[in-house]
Amino acid sequence: MRLCSIASGSSGNCIYVGNDHTHLLVDTGISKKKIDEGLHMLGVDATELSGILITHEHSDHIQGLGVFSRKYGIPIYATKGTLAGIRDYKYLGPLPEELLHEIRIDSSFFLGDIEIHPFSISHDALEPSGYRMECEGKAVAVATDLGKYDDYTVERLKNLNALLLEANHDVHMLETGPYPYPLKRRVMGDKGHLSNELSGRLLCDILHDRLKGVMLGHLSRENNYAELAYETVKLEITLGDNPYKGEDIPLSVAKRDTVSDIITV
Ligand SMILES: [Zn+2]
Ligand SMILES: [Zn+2]
Repeated sequence: MRLCSIASGSSGNCIYVGNDHTHLLVDTGISKKKIDEGLHMLGVDATELSGILITHEHSDHIQGLGVFSRKYGIPIYATKGTLAGIRDYKYLGPLPEELLHEIRIDSSFFLGDIEIHPFSISHDALEPSGYRMECEGKAVAVATDLGKYDDYTVERLKNLNALLLEANHDVHMLETGPYPYPLKRRVMGDKGHLSNELSGRLLCDILHDRLKGVMLGHLSRENNYAELAYETVKLEITLGDNPYKGEDIPLSVAKRDTVSDIITV
């Protein structure tokens, strides 16, 4: 399987997961043009996509959905709450009902030969989800937009071979940065976003020898930068209660506006 970020950050998210037979997108929070360009770089034609999985209805995850799915007729999969949010989001234009497919948290389903496991995440949206995807004994997951994690989250992210994980902000930068106080509280809250430190601690709970790639994503433009996220997460792993040091983990940071390195497992 391949995992690749086409765009990742608070301004727009679109992640590719696929293999030789099945191609999926998680979120379409960037323009159709940018999605097309990203897929082209991956050697995938948009018409080959088996589905688009949506994590939640915030604009940075769905703003390209209307134009993109109408153009190519790609089926959309999301929880009942997220579908309601998508239908209510007025800038998407009309989405053909036959493209909208309701899925359930912790209820697995197949798209092509990839088994999808939607799991619940703590975020201020109607019914947000992360996704774990498995094929031929390999597992990858996308987990962004979570204000906190718990044993449930850790359980869903065990035995992965590749992971795209949120490292949204540096707590100190957020505290001293330009955001108005209510927004700071929202980002830091249980239904906000995962800090670099918490991202590193979550990783400590799920590290194992077959985890071949971790990509940090959904970085805040104002309250984080790639080197800081990378170094903070590395340090948390080194300091954490686990046998690993930061440099043992193949860690990278997803690029905000362009295609990142492909993780192949
Ligand atoms: Zn969100
Ligand atoms: Zn987001």
